[in-house]
Amino acid sequence: MKEGKTKAFIIEETVKGARAQAAAWRKEGLRVGLVPTMGYLHEGHKSLIDRSVRENDRTVVSVFVNPIQFGPAEDLESYPRDLEADCALCREAGAAMVFAPKASEMYAEDFSTYVDMQDVSAELCGKSRPTHFKGVCTVVSKLFHIVAPDRAYFGEKDAQQLAVIRRMVRDLNMDLEIVGCPIVREADGLAKSSRNTYLSEEERKAALSLSRAVAAGKAMAEGGEQDGEKILEVMRGILSAEPLARIDYVEMVKWDSIAVHHRLDCPVLAAVAVFIGKTRLIDNFIWEPAL
Ligand code: AMP
Repeated sequence: MKEGKTKAFIIEETVKGARAQAAAWRKEGLRVGLVPTMGYLHEGHKSLIDRSVRENDRTVVSVFVNPIQFGPAEDLESYPRDLEADCALCREAGAAMVFAPKASEMYAEDFSTYVDMQDVSAELCGKSRPTHFKGVCTVVSKLFHIVAPDRAYFGEKDAQQLAVIRRMVRDLNMDLEIVGCPIVREADGLAKSSRNTYLSEEERKAALSLSRAVAAGKAMAEGGEQDGEKILEVMRGILSAEPLARIDYVEMVKWDSIAVHHRLDCPVLAAVAVFIGKTRLIDNFIWEPAL
């Protein structure tokens, strides 16, 4: 890390401004980290920002509720937003820039170029949200082109997204490092999420069934169970016992390719998506064989 970190904090709404600032930093020989987010930041996002601040000279946090990754019946309009609080958190954490463009800044009216992917985006969330990863890959590619970071940080909370981004970077020869960061949870186990604000008190309790299912599955995997079916059955049982929970999926896949795989003989991802009332929540664990 370079010295001289008396950093100004910039809030930038234009692509041109963000690009120019990031380019100026790179010209000075400074390493740039990027943390893409949809805002309404919490401790989960902060763990990514903290890591980027540790590992880079300048950290850019993008705050952008990306319309094209939401399906027609999803929560684009109601998605929680609080740019002022987000900027305060980023500044406090030592980020150098918040890039918060308007949708019209990112997408021209006749926008027509997308980054799409097969296979890795087909299972899990790709099944119930068929256009989601096309939207994610497109916006993340755009952010990578605008900021040209040395590293970009993504949470394992959205494990399939992380696998999709890694594959995109590999397939399209993008010149940066993707850093995955562990899930940050509430004290009672619930994975932190901006969408948790949608939950009523009763739903908040019911939502704990996700982390309970994940913890039970993880304990079985760590205890040596090799049959993925058995693990998934226990996880499904815990979720089905919760009256307010409606399962979208409970599945086990290979961690790199996201292909369905029910044997613990390679790195696997066990992932759940569950509706609690109208709110769709996700959680997971990643298991890797001991070396
Ligand atoms: P979002 O704003 O929900 O799009 O999330 C932005 C980034 O923060 C993504 O890479 C997420 O995986 C990550 N993230 C969100 N919640 C958590 C969490 N509880 N723990 C770790 N990372 C998270």
